[in-house]
Amino acid sequence: MIDSHCHLDNPQFDPDREAVIDRALAAGVERMVVIGTGEGPPDLEAGIRLADRHESIYATVGIHPHDASKATPETYKRLAELLKHSKVIALGEIGLDYHYDHSPREVQRDVFLQQMMIAGEARKPIVIHTREAWEDTLGLLETYWRPRGLGGIMHCFTGDAEQARQALERGFHLGFGGVLTFPKADGLREAARITPDERILLETDCPYLAPVPYRGKRNEPAFVVDTARRLAEIRGTTPEAIAALTTTNFQKLAKL
Ligand SMILES: [Zn+2]
Ligand SMILES: [Zn+2]
Repeated sequence: MIDSHCHLDNPQFDPDREAVIDRALAAGVERMVVIGTGEGPPDLEAGIRLADRHESIYATVGIHPHDASKATPETYKRLAELLKHSKVIALGEIGLDYHYDHSPREVQRDVFLQQMMIAGEARKPIVIHTREAWEDTLGLLETYWRPRGLGGIMHCFTGDAEQARQALERGFHLGFGGVLTFPKADGLREAARITPDERILLETDCPYLAPVPYRGKRNEPAFVVDTARRLAEIRGTTPEAIAALTTTNFQKLAKL
């Protein structure tokens, strides 16, 4: 299995990061993608530092919408360079977050757009973070990303079936995480039912959003197994089949 989105650089893992990685491997999570957004620019290498030390870890680089106001021309130059690293598989997570508004919305939109240009040049997929900004996110993707035909991942997808269709139409994979196991997530489970096999991915977004039965605790990559089990129930298949297809999907998208 693959955890296509985790934040193992997070300080919450400082006491036992190596043990967390070992537990993931022991649970059958063979690969983990560490999202490289970290604390934001000027540091862009939070993911790469871990990928360099662990065979099982891949990375992304990018500026999270929270940190959009920290971006400079220098940041963009460096991002383009880091995208050439052999273990960097995508640019992300990028997008819009109107829930927290840590950076002004106009700046968020501009930084999102600049990064789509960089990813397009590098022919890499993008990892999207969107919160309370669905229409604006779709609009920007429609204009600036869809024509590239490079696709990407709607990370921590929590929309309904209609939003799933909108993302799928634009060439995206949907990353399903712990929210899928929450009692009230019926709309999301419907989205997970209608998504084609070849567009499904698993993720934890750890240390956040642990699946049931760990809800409220620190999340970790090994728990992706619980989300896989729930996804299998929803789709009327086996966890093994979910593991196999999400692994193949990831390998294709990441060109591994
Ligand atoms: Zn996110
Ligand atoms: Zn994330």
